[in-house]
Amino acid sequence: MRKINELIWHCTATPQGRKTTVAEIDSWHKQRGWNGIGYHKVVHLDGTVSDGRPISKIGAHVKGKNTGTIGYVYVGGTDKAGKAKDTRTAAQKATMRRLTLEAIREYGLTKVTGHNQYANKACPCFDAQAEYADLLTMKNGMPNKDPAKLTSSRTLKGSAASGVGVLGTTATDAAAQLQPLVEISGYLKFAFIALTLVGLAFVVYAKLDDSGAFTEKKPK
Ligand SMILES: [Zn+2]
Repeated sequence: MRKINELIWHCTATPQGRKTTVAEIDSWHKQRGWNGIGYHKVVHLDGTVSDGRPISKIGAHVKGKNTGTIGYVYVGGTDKAGKAKDTRTAAQKATMRRLTLEAIREYGLTKVTGHNQYANKACPCFDAQAEYADLLTMKNGMPNKDPAKLTSSRTLKGSAASGVGVLGTTATDAAAQLQPLVEISGYLKFAFIALTLVGLAFVVYAKLDDSGAFTEKKPK
């Protein structure tokens, strides 16, 4: 398996609400002389996912940045007039967040970005690095391994509407709730050690006392 350290997000640059198939993207990319679809996953308008090029194969999605990266795309990215626009549906946002977290965990990604960070393009028409930064920071800190339950507050409204991954807490809330517990167990440990030491001191004192070391010598 090739080493992957970064996920780069794209849009298909198709008008809002228009469906696009993997076969269609495949034909566009073949017309460009590429070896078929250059993206590894496609997120459809309804939030479902299609596989594109196998992850094990190097993609064709960002000039000069295909080595060490994977490229995912969502369907959309322009308004009806063809002007760049973040057209992601609530279902797409929820799926994209889940896929991003899964990729971070599976491949140990250190970076999540958008095509626009490497080319003078609007693609993917949102700030992918900013939007998914929290997923990178919490990848090792969370006890909950189920990405569906790690929906952020930002996408909670959308995912609640679509019935995906509804949990009444956000990842950061969960971490905040855990923090006091960690502190309490720290105090308990300290108290236990302190009590043990005091106990030992008493035992030692009592022994010494028995031997008469701490009692006044009786006058002979
Ligand atoms: Zn792109």
